[in-house]
Order: sequence, then C-alpha cells, then structure tokens
Amino acid sequence: MAKYTPMIEQYLRVKEGAKDAFLFFRLGDFYEMFFEDAVLASKELEITLTGREGGGDEKIPMCGVPYHAAEGYIQRLIEKGYKVAICEQLDDPAVTKGMVRRDIVRVVTPGTVMDGKIISDKNNNYLVCVTELDGMMALAACDLTTGELYVTSVLSGAEWLRDEIGIYEPAEIIGDTALLETLRSEASLLAKPVVYTPWDKRDEELARRQFGESAWVRLERERGHCLSLLISYLSETQRRSLGQLSQISPYEPGNYMILDPFTRRNLELTETVRERSKKGSLLWLLDRTETSMGARLLRRRIDKPLLQRAPIERRLEAVDYLYNQFIVREDLRQALKEIYDLERLVGRIAFGSANGRDMNALKLSLEQIPALKELCGTSGSATLREIGAAMDDCAELREDIARAIVEDPPVSVRDGGIIRQGYHERLDELREASSSGKQWIAELEAKERVATGIKSLKIGYNKIFGYFIEITRANLAALPEGRYERKQTLANAERFVTPELKEKEALILEAQDKMTDLEYSLFTELRDRIAAQVPRLQNLAEKVAEIDVYQSLAAVSAEQRFVKPKLSDGYDLRLEGGRHPVVEAVLKDAAFIANGSSLTKAEGNILLITGPNMAGKSTYMRQVALICILAQIGCFVPASSAEVPLIDRIFTRIGAADDLIGGQSTFMVEMADIQVMTEKATARSLIIIDELGRGTSTSEGMAIAQAVIEYVHDTIACKALVSTHFHELAHLEQSLTGLRNYSMAVQESGDKVNFLRKLVPGAADSSYGIYCARLAGLPGGIIDRAYGLLQSIEQAAAPGGPALHYGGSGPRRSSVEGPDSVQESVASITEAPTDHAFTKAGTAYVESAV
Ligand code: ADP
Repeated sequence: MAKYTPMIEQYLRVKEGAKDAFLFFRLGDFYEMFFEDAVLASKELEITLTGREGGGDEKIPMCGVPYHAAEGYIQRLIEKGYKVAICEQLDDPAVTKGMVRRDIVRVVTPGTVMDGKIISDKNNNYLVCVTELDGMMALAACDLTTGELYVTSVLSGAEWLRDEIGIYEPAEIIGDTALLETLRSEASLLAKPVVYTPWDKRDEELARRQFGESAWVRLERERGHCLSLLISYLSETQRRSLGQLSQISPYEPGNYMILDPFTRRNLELTETVRERSKKGSLLWLLDRTETSMGARLLRRRIDKPLLQRAPIERRLEAVDYLYNQFIVREDLRQALKEIYDLERLVGRIAFGSANGRDMNALKLSLEQIPALKELCGTSGSATLREIGAAMDDCAELREDIARAIVEDPPVSVRDGGIIRQGYHERLDELREASSSGKQWIAELEAKERVATGIKSLKIGYNKIFGYFIEITRANLAALPEGRYERKQTLANAERFVTPELKEKEALILEAQDKMTDLEYSLFTELRDRIAAQVPRLQNLAEKVAEIDVYQSLAAVSAEQRFVKPKLSDGYDLRLEGGRHPVVEAVLKDAAFIANGSSLTKAEGNILLITGPNMAGKSTYMRQVALICILAQIGCFVPASSAEVPLIDRIFTRIGAADDLIGGQSTFMVEMADIQVMTEKATARSLIIIDELGRGTSTSEGMAIAQAVIEYVHDTIACKALVSTHFHELAHLEQSLTGLRNYSMAVQESGDKVNFLRKLVPGAADSSYGIYCARLAGLPGGIIDRAYGLLQSIEQAAAPGGPALHYGGSGPRRSSVEGPDSVQESVASITEAPTDHAFTKAGTAYVESAV
C-alpha cells in the first residue's frame, strides 16, 4: 500500500465527505483538484492536467484554478450539472506551524447556486425535494436565491408528482431514491436538465429551529418529513445559516387548476414548442412587468390558475381598476422601474454575500415604497388599497443604509471605501490619522525640495519598501552626504528613507489596516442587522411583485382589447368573439378572425371540428383553453364577452412537432395521454384533442376516435373540443346529444382555396390534403399524380357503398354546409386501401384499382 504525504492524506479525508462533487482543495492561492477529479475537471474546464508527487508509487494527477478566478470555473461545472465542494484553509498559513486545517465550507449544487449565469432574473432556480410517507407524497420546492419555499402533498400519485415538478422546472431534485428513479424515467418531460440526488437524511430539530415551533406544528406530518429532509440537505451543503428561508408557504394542490407538462407545453404557456423560447408564449405576451420579482410571480400565476372564485375576483378587481386608469398605471410603472430585485438582494443579505452595492440597491428600492404605498392607498381598487396598507416601507432600514454606505461603494467588501464619513467615530479618527499622515508626507516632500534644492525630489510608495525619497542619479551630487539613509539603487535613481518617514509610514499603514478591518466589521454588522429583518423585506417584495403583476396584466388587457370575464360556478362556457391572444399579437398583415364558443349543457358540450389543414382548428381550440386560463389567473380575456366556468383541469392532446418522446411512437404517446385523461378528467375539466386517432391505420384510428368521444360524452361529460380529419365521424351528432359538428370554413375561387378561419356549424367534407401539399410546394408532377390516384380511388369506391369525398382534381366542394348536409351513411367505415393489413373483419373495405 502506497503511503501518501500528509497533505494528500488530508485531501483524501476531506474528499470522503464530498464523493459526488468536485473537491476544490485550497492550497495557497489555488484550488487544486487531484486524482479522478483532476482528470475529469481538466477535460470539462479545458485546463492543463499535471502531476504531483504525493508519496504514492506514481505521480498524482492534478489540476488547479487560481482562487480569485474560481467563481467562473465553478459556474461552468454547475452549468454542466456537476456539484462543487469548496474546501478552504481554516488556519492562517502565515502563523500556523505544521499543516493548516482544511475543510469543506460549502457544496455548490445546481439547485443551490446563489449567482452566475444559471440564475436568470426572470426565472427561479428551484431545488425540489420529494418524499413518500405512509402513502402520502410530499413535495417541497425552494429557491435559495429568493427565499421562496413551497410545500405540498397528496395521497400518492406519480402523475401528480410529475405535473407538479413540471411547474417548478427544478435544477435539482433530491429525496426518496425510488421516487427519483420514477421521475428520471420521465426526465424528457422537463424543459431543462436536472440533477438527481438521492437523499434520506433528516434533521427535524434543525427544521423546527429554522421555521419556528408554531409554523412547524401546523404542518402535516408528510410535509414536515419532506422539509426536514430538505433542510438536512441544505445544511450539509451550505453549512451556514439560511435566514432567507424564513417562511414556509404550504399549499393545497386542489386549489389550483391542474396542467400537466404536455398541456403546458402544447398551450405554449411559458415557452414555445419549437424553440422552447419565452418569445411567442403566453407569458411573453402578458409580461409587461417592471421588476424581476413581478416577472417571476406572473410566471407562477400562469403556472397555477386558481379554482376559487373569490381570490380570482379579487385579482380581477385590481386589473379592472388599472385597466381603466392609464395614469395610475403609468405612475406605478415609474415607481416599479426603480426597484431592484428585492427578493434576490434579501437572499444575498441573508446568505452573507451581499456587498455595498447590494445595500445601496436595497436603499434605492426602499425609497420607492412610499410612492407605491400612496398610489395604492388612494386608488379606487379595494385590492390595491389592501396591498398598500399591508406594505411596510422599512424606512429605518433605508435610513440605516443611507447613513452607513457611501454613494458609490466598491465591489469588494474587504478593501474599505464603503462606509461614510460621520458614521463611526473611531473610523473617522483613523481616517484622520491616515490622511494627516499623508499630508505630513506631502509637506515633507515640499520641505526637502527646498532644503536640498533638488526640484525633482519626490516621495513615492511601494508595497515592498513602503515610503521612500527618490533622487535621480543626475541630482545625487547635490545631495548633502548623510542626509538620508540609502535604501535601494535603481538604474537612474537612488531611493532613501529617514527614521521620521518610517515612523509616519508605520502610523499610516496601521491606520489603514485598522480602517479596512473596521469598515468590514461595520459593514457586516449592518448586513446582519438587515438580515434580521428578512421576513419583513420578503413580505414587502411579495407586495411589490403583486402590484407589478396587476399593472402588467392591465396594460396588456387594455392594449389588446381584452374584456373582463364573468366567472361562474356553473357548467356553461360562452365566449363571443374569442381570439387567440398570442396568434393575434403576432399576426402582422392579416386581421385575426374572432370566433365564438358555446360549450353548454343545453346546447352541447362537445364540439367536433373538421376542416382542412391550416384552416385554424388548433388555433381555435387552444384559444378556448387560453381564455379559461387567463380568466382563472385573474386577467381579462381576448373576447368581446366571456362567461367562464371554473375549470379544474385542462387536458390537451395536440400533435406537436416533437411528438416522439422518449422513443415512443406518436400513437402510443397519444394513447397513454388518453388513458390518463379517462382516469382523471371530471365534469369540470376541459378536454382538447387535436387530430384524434392519427398514427394508426385509418379504420382503427377512426374506431378509437369514436370510442373515445363516446366515453367523453357519456362518462366524463365534460366540455371538449375535438378536431379530426375523419369527416366520417360527423354522424356522431345523431347519436350523441351533447355533440355538435363544426368546421372551419374555406372558400374556393377558381382552383384556389381561401381559409376564412371562421367556425361554422356542420362538418367539412373535404380535407384538401392534396391542395395543402401543393401549397407546401410539392412538385407539380406529384400533385397531378395524386389527384389522378384520388379520382380512381373514389371511382372504385363509388359503387361499393357510401363513398368518401376527397378533394378530387382540385378543391371543388364548399365545406361551408349546414349540419343537414352531413352524410349519415358514412357510419360504416370505408377507406382507401393503402396497406393490406388494414383489412379487418367487420370493416367494409373496397379493393381499389391502385
Ligand atoms: P389547423 O390546426 O387547422 O391545421 P392552425 O390552427 O394551425 O390550423 O392555423 C394555421 C394558421 O392559420 C395559424 O398559424 C395562424 O397563423 C392562422 N390562423 C389560425 N386561426 C386564425 C384566425 N382565427 N384568424 C387569423 N389567422 C388564423
């Protein structure tokens, strides 16, 4: 067995405590990595791998980064999904005999980073903890940068967990190993990569102390269990007090509309399907917030529409007022503009990483509060008045900072220059001593120039020799012998000192040392004083965020001509002149065509929508869902009038570009979704299915589509919008009383099809598939051949019974027809044989000439 040097032995001992992280081992001015860490880090960070004798048989692989540049390297590793354990020297090497002690002071993980690129202003960075206890699943989500901490639980349910995690989009998930395994298998559903850390250590004592006994005893058992796991992980990785996590926000999942990750993505709530960018999403349209915390709150609200009328009405009341009060809205915006990210500032203050500039940012933000309070207090909105009254302007904190911190402090908190004159007597004395010392030196310079007659004599300073008198070589002859002590000889000058000069120097340097130490401790005292007020500041930040959200929603609603929705506890949904807010906003040349929707018990709760590709079917269906979501987050909606019942859950099955998830076929994904839907949907849900039944053979697809629609109609009885290219399904209107046929109108002129984007009663009877192929630019030869084939298929099918109507040699049928034109006879399925495997017993099927 090779015996390592004591230093390497120490490294190995420390590394035992950070097996799943890179260990940044402080050696003087560097953080060094050894063994496998070094090999991997050198690749990931593109730094040179070297070796070091460490007492073993061979050299130990090693690489390192300078301590002052470590931040950037740590961030790069975190972005790649690694963890970094930072091991510092605990003793001052200058005064320590033998080896200094070293230990880990913090483990940085993707879910616990406090700064860097990973932390974007408008997004949270969540660490999620999941646990299961006695059949109850619990989830805690915390953002160390803002101090938010949510906890919730339900009676089991892996889907619930998946849905809930989808909302937080965490950077890291910790907790029960088995649960993590389940989640990992569905990882592709998450928008960003996530790090999984199995964790089963609990520290209930610590959790109780962190949140206080009274908050703790009110928690359900499984939630407390989950939080005590989370707290133990945080204490083990952060190793410092986490004052920013002062309040727990428990919530009941049942109070919010449920949106699974597919639905959130399909509806492009916070990012688009294709680019996965915010631009083009609902959030993008609604976000006119002026503060980062407002932007984050808006996002949270979109992710969690409410289910109770009273809190929605409360929000709508504020939006309504601001909708009509342009000037108040503008005044609010002006005040909000000046407010920095209070939550993150407070997070850094509690974490102990805030500097002088952060303090001033806090001060400047607090200066805006009285104006905000006043605007809310005098407003005509009860909601805003209530918020204004609850705002604590933290005036004494603002004054405390104003007294202490200079106008423009440096980034570093250790080098002085932060604290104002007049704040602390001893500091002023030291400053006086230092500046009078400097004054004395300036006077000495003038005096000696006169005394020696050497005009170029000057007094300089450097770190090694301190203060010195410098005389150029040319002038040396003029210097009286023995006037100064010779100290250093340069090429063209000579440097001297005097005992007096050295004495002053000692005074100046000592004063300076004391000054920087004193400034640092005055600064940290102030920071700690403010840290003790974290809950107050967090409450204030919440209020500011809420005001910001209201002005943002009001501004967008006014600009986009939204109307206030009428919420009801009933069943019926009635929209007049409904629009898709985002499609409308991005349509440049064309006007958006508004369409009404009526999904009611009396007049039908299922719309079966047919119409060619590109006719606007999926835009229409999405707009209904978005209007419900907008109403339930407390925003006005894009319609001329809207009566919206509270929807408990929206299911969407919309064929998207990236249908292939985890290697499953489109069809299997669709069926799995439908399965969840059949299990979870209630009469209060809204179901949206685009192109139901595609991805398998026509006859099977149609059969499944019909069966699913019947199930939704008979068993779930919820509101549903279903689009299909199986025009044959139109006959369902006869057998299902709650189903209505609709289609997207098109107009033909010559051989052109004009999409009218108008929803009209009755089924379409042509899919214009070949026409669309031509629009897409397929070669003329292919188009002609396709029309030819279609004709022969139709002819072959004609004598055999009810024929399908394909586009023929060009678009030839108006699809704007009333319900009575729907062919009842298409009930039996007829199809073109493109694949002989389609032939199934009981399926009418006509051999074609193809
Ligand atoms: P489908 O689902 O029928 O294939 P889409 O809903 O995808 O059609 O609509 C195709 C395009 O038509 C959309 O990208 C949009 O630009 C435009 N569009 C859809 N609905 C409307 C409308 N009501 N008014 C104006 N343009 C619309």
